[in-house]
Amino acid sequence: MIWKEILIRYGEISTKGRNKVDFINRLRDNVRYSFHDILPLKIRAERDRMFIEIENEEKMIVLLDRLPEIFGIQSFSPVASCAKDVDAVKALAVEIMGIFKDQDITFKVEVRRTDKTFELDTHTLQREIGGVVLRNYQNLSVQMKQPDVTLRIEVRMDAIYVMAQVIPGAGGMPIGSNGKSLLMLSGGIDSPVAGYLMMKRGVRLEAIHFYSPPYTSQNSLQKVKDLANELTKFGARIRLHIIPFTELQVLIKERVPENVTMTTTRRMMLRIADQVREEIDAMAIITGESLGQVASQTLESLTAINDVTATPILRPLIAFDKLDIIEIAKKIDTYETSIQPYEDCCTIFTPASPKTKPKLEKIMHYESFTDFDEYIERAVRNREVHIFPEKKEKADAFSELL
Ligand code: ATP
Ligand code: MG
Repeated sequence: MIWKEILIRYGEISTKGRNKVDFINRLRDNVRYSFHDILPLKIRAERDRMFIEIENEEKMIVLLDRLPEIFGIQSFSPVASCAKDVDAVKALAVEIMGIFKDQDITFKVEVRRTDKTFELDTHTLQREIGGVVLRNYQNLSVQMKQPDVTLRIEVRMDAIYVMAQVIPGAGGMPIGSNGKSLLMLSGGIDSPVAGYLMMKRGVRLEAIHFYSPPYTSQNSLQKVKDLANELTKFGARIRLHIIPFTELQVLIKERVPENVTMTTTRRMMLRIADQVREEIDAMAIITGESLGQVASQTLESLTAINDVTATPILRPLIAFDKLDIIEIAKKIDTYETSIQPYEDCCTIFTPASPKTKPKLEKIMHYESFTDFDEYIERAVRNREVHIFPEKKEKADAFSELL
């Protein structure tokens, strides 16, 4: 096999020293985690790039398949190597440029010599390699300014290294480099997308879901588990806290006027989420709310709901159009799961005409006649916790990453 290693260019990285070290260490850990099934991997991290050694073709295929999903990588390139011999490097250059033989593209050769004693100097090597590639592939042509492909040749002390492809990475920051937050995960389209966007900003997720059996079915719960599992493919485990919510929903329905049940329901959800957040030592809560989408997502509603806590509530979709959210959901493969038609605990108890502009003082007044605290405590205490992906050995090996 000609491929020797994969060169990884970092994504958005802080210029500050300590953060940079954290970013790089975190990225290396996340890469190891994502490729747990092909370990061991030799990873060499430098200040400006990282290298993964490739031992065989199977590993190469898996790496190329999954690297584009790992946050914190701007781009990566497969690197081939050969002996320090002019004929060998020419043959390798021809083989690599064969990747593009059916396309009409322009290229240039760029040689760098760390080993100044090599028999040909930079310019001669550049010219000779360009010549042999041109002779082999009729539809390639040389262009020095902004060519489609740059064939990079590095003559190092131990061998000659060659690369020609720059494959885009997922961008963003390594998961975990920006702390941990609790995602309120419904079975809808929006919340998985919100979780994805925060993961892309380096946030590690735990998720919380409210369900109301027997009003909501096993299928609707399974759908949420599937969504949590789908989000793990971006390179991190996710713990899902499932909150039994029936008792509280029934209570709310009894105790507050119908047109404010929705607001109170959301307030109780947020109070529960905030308790779980504190227990798991997460810093913020994430929701899939988007301004104006439904009655609970007007500024007045958000204000009334938000009032129960001073914890930062991150709403990455607040300014997104639904169609744009759907597009991301399709791209990250959560859309098909989200549109499965199972009931959500909120929709079932949603009144016909919820208040779109609830007044906080009134809501607090209605709630003041009931002691919700013990119900909230019970819901938090009786939660079920699942870890995704569910495979046992993986969960154990990486428990320190949560
Ligand atoms: P989604 O598509 O994410 O369900 P939505 O547009 O349907 O959002 P709502 O149902 O009003 O809007 O929910 C707004 C947000 O509240 C959700 O994005 C999610 O973060 C949270 N949420 C709603 N229902 C639940 C639930 N059953 N469990 C956990 N979080 C929920
Ligand atoms: Mg919903």
